[in-house]
Amino acid sequence: MEGEYNESMNCQVKDELVSQLIVLNNKLNLLSPDLVHGDEERAEVQQQRENLYAEIKHHRAKGHEGKPCPAARQV
Ligand SMILES: [Zn+2]
Repeated sequence: MEGEYNESMNCQVKDELVSQLIVLNNKLNLLSPDLVHGDEERAEVQQQRENLYAEIKHHRAKGHEGKPCPAARQV
């Protein structure tokens, strides 16, 4: 428990972004292709996911005052 994770390897921002990504993934899974407006909604969620991916990528590369995210190294 305590000491299981190295504190310097954790990043709340990254965790937050990843949890948002999980929410979007779940949303996408719940959208049935049979829904009348399903395609539009899927496209919208997929777009949001793309944006989030870009944000995560940017954060990993230089999210800490221009420096790479320390938490990204464990991936
Ligand atoms: Zn970070």
